[in-house]
Amino acid sequence: MALTSFELNARDGRARTGVIRTPRGDIRTPAFMPVGTAATVKGMMPESVRETGADILLGNTYHLMLRPGAERVAKLGGLHRFMNWERPILTDSGGFQVMSLSDLRKLTEEGVTFRSHVDGSKHMLSPETSMEIQRLLGSDIVMAFDECPALPADRARLEESMRLSMRWAARSREAFGDRPGHMLFGIQQGGLERDLREESAQALVNIGFDGYAIGGLAVGEGQEAMFGCLDFAPGMLPEDKPRYLMGVGKPADIVGAVARGIDMMDCVLPSRSGRTGQAWTRRGQVNLRNARHAEDPRPLEEGCSCPCCRSYSRAYLHHVVRAKEMIAGMLLTWHNLHYYQELMAGMRAAIAEGRFAAFEAAFHEGEALGDIERL
Ligand SMILES: [Zn+2]
Repeated sequence: MALTSFELNARDGRARTGVIRTPRGDIRTPAFMPVGTAATVKGMMPESVRETGADILLGNTYHLMLRPGAERVAKLGGLHRFMNWERPILTDSGGFQVMSLSDLRKLTEEGVTFRSHVDGSKHMLSPETSMEIQRLLGSDIVMAFDECPALPADRARLEESMRLSMRWAARSREAFGDRPGHMLFGIQQGGLERDLREESAQALVNIGFDGYAIGGLAVGEGQEAMFGCLDFAPGMLPEDKPRYLMGVGKPADIVGAVARGIDMMDCVLPSRSGRTGQAWTRRGQVNLRNARHAEDPRPLEEGCSCPCCRSYSRAYLHHVVRAKEMIAGMLLTWHNLHYYQELMAGMRAAIAEGRFAAFEAAFHEGEALGDIERL
């Protein structure tokens, strides 16, 4: 029997719910993956991340290869033991971040050479080195190495980049080899161009992957353009494999993506906004820096069962945000991750019960209300 599998349990419209089984545990889909960039979800203990309902974390190959280094992590027992998270981990390929973060990049058919943004040291990322680094980290879901152009990009650039990524996808598959218990995902590219997305999907399916990601979105094109692409892109990928939308997003982006057949997503937004005094609630975004909260004894979100809402007032949160106390980022990150996971659980239940459209309508009504009336 295969050590990993994907089971679809229910469909409602294009939305789907199911489970990815791995030796390190099940991942309920649609799944939201908190981002643990440098072997930590900033401001949270791993046990606390699990308490919010997360089944899987994302780790960044680019950051981890530079600091502390993949060989060091391997020597210390792998990323799961190193960071005290024994459940599944997905690692990205490093391709996206090397283009956005490193200095003095040089892109060739072979791969990308670059200088570290940490200490200026010189490195090379290629399909082969990316597979090796992700193997050393011990990641459960490995991403093929790809190149992702920022949007808007002209068609010639998108076409050239997509075809390079498909040649790299074949090399990634070859270098990954046969690793029972671990999955390799291919990444569809092609910008917003339908025929390029189709060509990319065909190339990936011919190579054969355990799951398929939609890359190259959420890079500045806006929600309308992204949804336009998601109206056709997921349908080009195999029905019986997980579909992962990379780097998304705000709660409304996530709900819209699930409605269009996406099974997995990741984003730094809930944790990053938690560190800047921003919260996400059923009634949209709340800025705790705002003076209106200074004497408000009410919880951030009435009825929320997270530790932040159970025990602290908006007045306290406002104070610790303004005073730049560490607990501000800790509490707001916890609430935000809890809210995101509740949203995913709500969608999974709604899809299973055939009431996703009603769930979606209620979600939008809630966001449209805006924050609670000031006292
Ligand atoms: Zn809360």
